[in-house]
Amino acid sequence: MTFSNIDLSRELVQAVRDAIDIVDIASEHTRLEKKGRDHQGVCPLHKEKTPSFHVDADRGLFYCFGCGAGGDAIKLHMLTSGDDFPAAIESLALRYGIPVRERRKRRPDEPDPERALAAAAEYFVEQLGRHDVPQRYLEERKVSPELAETYGIGYAPDSWRALLETLAKRVPQRDLEAAGLVRRSKQGKLYDHFRNRLVFPIHNPSGRLVGFGGRTLGDDRAKYVNTAETERFHKSELLYGLFQARRDIRDGHRAVLVEGYFDVIGAAAAGVVGAVATMGTALTPEQSKLLGRYAEEVVVAYDGDDAGERAHQRALPILLGEGMAVYRARFPDGHDPDSLRLAEGNAAVVKAVGDAGDSVLAEIRRLTPAEARSQPQRQAQAASDLAGLLGGIPDAVLRFSYARRAAESLDLPPELLLRKIPGEQRGGGGGGPGRPGRGGPNAPPPPGPPDHGAPPPGMEPAAAPRSEVRSLEERTLEILLSGGELPPPRALPPAEVFHDPQCRNIYRVFCALYGERGADRPPDAKMVLAELGEEGATIDRMARLLVGSEGAAQGPALSDTLDRLTRRWLNERSRALSREIAEAQRDGDEPRLERLLQEKNELSHRLHRGA
Ligand SMILES: [Zn+2]
Repeated sequence: MTFSNIDLSRELVQAVRDAIDIVDIASEHTRLEKKGRDHQGVCPLHKEKTPSFHVDADRGLFYCFGCGAGGDAIKLHMLTSGDDFPAAIESLALRYGIPVRERRKRRPDEPDPERALAAAAEYFVEQLGRHDVPQRYLEERKVSPELAETYGIGYAPDSWRALLETLAKRVPQRDLEAAGLVRRSKQGKLYDHFRNRLVFPIHNPSGRLVGFGGRTLGDDRAKYVNTAETERFHKSELLYGLFQARRDIRDGHRAVLVEGYFDVIGAAAAGVVGAVATMGTALTPEQSKLLGRYAEEVVVAYDGDDAGERAHQRALPILLGEGMAVYRARFPDGHDPDSLRLAEGNAAVVKAVGDAGDSVLAEIRRLTPAEARSQPQRQAQAASDLAGLLGGIPDAVLRFSYARRAAESLDLPPELLLRKIPGEQRGGGGGGPGRPGRGGPNAPPPPGPPDHGAPPPGMEPAAAPRSEVRSLEERTLEILLSGGELPPPRALPPAEVFHDPQCRNIYRVFCALYGERGADRPPDAKMVLAELGEEGATIDRMARLLVGSEGAAQGPALSDTLDRLTRRWLNERSRALSREIAEAQRDGDEPRLERLLQEKNELSHRLHRGA
């Protein structure tokens, strides 16, 4: 989601930087363990088994010794979410409750659906508190007030104009219309879209309210309705409950895919975490891709009837295509997670989800009945069906492993089945056209060969040793920023002693802050980072320098490295001066020559005195 229309002021970026916690952000993607001053975990940006991903909480930086990615929390959010910088700021601001301003002033005649949605959400919740019918209904469905609050459930009263009239004072009608909250009759009269319905707010994954779903409490023919599709509300690209569950999904690597609002809430009430729902439609590739950003495995917990089973069969290749492992929770006929909870209690739902079986193996069983082994036509058909299903699995080893099981069930040699799988070469060897791996276009490129999923053993990039070779310039900055003893600001050499533009940049900012704050309050890395603002490359360099560093404890002393840098610079300057002096002599430029000789004199004085 790269759409963003917010005012990206320096203050906003700074407020986001101040608010975000890099450990919090990183923990959404990997399990971190505190080791020494760092947190460490398996890198979420490249495939690895041994943790080389380090997070420095104090400085708000991360660095991976395996793939070399590094930076601050915003960069980490961008790399893991696919957001660009403005979208990252918006999404993080939203998440940490920092108010944002719209960048572009809306034209006076342009509707503002967001304001209407926010006002309506408040209104619906308030109405729920005032009406017995919906409260009783929630009670009957064993939805606690706490749970209702977590999901922001509200109520739209049984009236054609209640919302319209209540909100009219605060929200222009065209905004309500643009948000899909009111509709216009053929006669041009406006009326409320949601009437006598429980209302479920729907958020995008960054937490922005984008629309509502409503369940009738009367005898309306449409049991469920949603707000109309708007700029932000595309039902086919959203998953209900993902915003609330995404953390649990990341932590547990598992999502539970259910069919409707009450299944999400019922699953949560039963203690099953990570439930998300499509909203009355079949799973789309966009939703699967979205889910794949958070989950490694998906338990499909659709209704235990034929329709639920068919929906599962349709969802299976879409989920497999995103590289997720897929399991199917079995419910007694006619039950879904919510009805099972009401009939048999929480434990029954937890058990059904916990007992979920491998969906691909189940499909193999379904497609290979006894006739498929004994009747040639049926056997060929089953082989085609299975090859189609297995062909969508990005991981070559997994694909092969399932293919072997399928071939056994069909009583065929595995090579025969593998030959039918698109992209597999004869005999099941490697090669073939590459398949997109998981993660979508925004995911960082996988290391090793892009083809066929898992790299062969030994291809995984080795974690670089912790004590990387650092340049003299890097080492100097490392010590400067790790809070050891410093010479007074005046005694520090000029920024020109640094050759590397990023190192020079960091040093310059450090010196400026140090000069302002004085010798007894030297700036730390965080202050330098804050000053660097949006300078991406320099921030990345800071991360590489500081994360996992031993600081000032080991290696040469600061005075030593500063001295070497200064001498290097003086020597360079001295050589340049010699050239300029020769030039001035050739040109007979006496005043210049005099000035240069004097400088050269001072320089050699400094060099011999020891800077
Ligand atoms: Zn990495």
